[in-house]
Amino acid sequence: MSRVWNFSAGPAAIPSVVLERAQRELLDWNGSGASVMELSHRGKLFIGLAQQAEADLRELLGVPDDYAVLFLQGGATQHFAQIPMNLAGDGDSADYIVNGHWGEKAASEAAPYVRVNIAASSKSDQYLRLPPRESWQLDPRAAYVHYTPNETIHGVEYHEIPDVGDVPLVADFSSNILSEPLNVSRFGLIYAGAQKNIGPSGLVVMIVRRDLLQRVSRPMAKIFRYAEQAANDSMLNTPNTWGWYLAGLTFQWLKDQGGLAAMAERNRAKAELLYQAIDGSGGYYRNPVQVSARSRMNVPFTLHDSALDAAFLKESEAAGLLALKGHKALGGMRASLYNAVPLEAVQALVSFMKDFAVRHG
Ligand code: PMP
Repeated sequence: MSRVWNFSAGPAAIPSVVLERAQRELLDWNGSGASVMELSHRGKLFIGLAQQAEADLRELLGVPDDYAVLFLQGGATQHFAQIPMNLAGDGDSADYIVNGHWGEKAASEAAPYVRVNIAASSKSDQYLRLPPRESWQLDPRAAYVHYTPNETIHGVEYHEIPDVGDVPLVADFSSNILSEPLNVSRFGLIYAGAQKNIGPSGLVVMIVRRDLLQRVSRPMAKIFRYAEQAANDSMLNTPNTWGWYLAGLTFQWLKDQGGLAAMAERNRAKAELLYQAIDGSGGYYRNPVQVSARSRMNVPFTLHDSALDAAFLKESEAAGLLALKGHKALGGMRASLYNAVPLEAVQALVSFMKDFAVRHG
């Protein structure tokens, strides 16, 4: 069996040791004689798993007690709509910072449920810069401020948590959660689709300040109400048990790796290596993003001549480097360097890039 170096933007690489453990336990999990997928979510064994996963996530991120941790479904996209349903009442407005494709989508999906105020946007810069905090036109009466700390397609990342005063800060951390330590207490709500830094798709991890769950918004089915999910330990209905299990294994793996400070150090080194290779290529490769806004997780780059793209993709795949094709919005290439992508993968990529440049002049 051969595993390739996987640079996919998502669903993305999962640590081999996590997959190997899941493989070993697939038919007989925890002495039950059954797969974790075949057991009731109400059973003692699964409840134990769920509690351990939550405890490990709380430990990794230092989640304060006045925050609930939820394991939900629907993808980040469903929560683009569900967040305003829960946090905004009739006539409320919410401020949206639009610094890429996903923030734009979050704002448009929220629009049926809240008056959306685009408080800042970098669309006119093709999202290759970040709207600086000083430029945000915030409304102190807003129900919340929503932003996307890391934009997966454009490869831009905020490296500091913006100060928005007393208005709750809501953040879509889908593509950079758990990549470095985070001061959770600066946020009202954090959410992330699992399929990049946590595990398989079909699971959304949410961390929400408990007082926000008491906001009276509008009539809606219980299944949409975060307060109900929190009161029922995210088991109002059958959760994604398999996703929850793999997320739990990933959290344990992160602890074994030395936690988020260690991951931050590795992620910094990985990104630095790749950006240096791009910047040092004499224009053969280019990253279009403003240097201070560059993402540690998603690195888009172009070749000096797009006629070489097809050869680059074909040869990189043959060299065991998977999923380097860029998003269609930007063209060119993109390498995603999530937690499960080791430094060796980036070394292999950089060495391939240098070799390609020599061979193709
Ligand atoms: N937000 C961000 C930052 C993303 O990268 C993605 C997926 N690429 C989404 C939201 C949408 O996630 P989902 O497919 O889970 O709805």
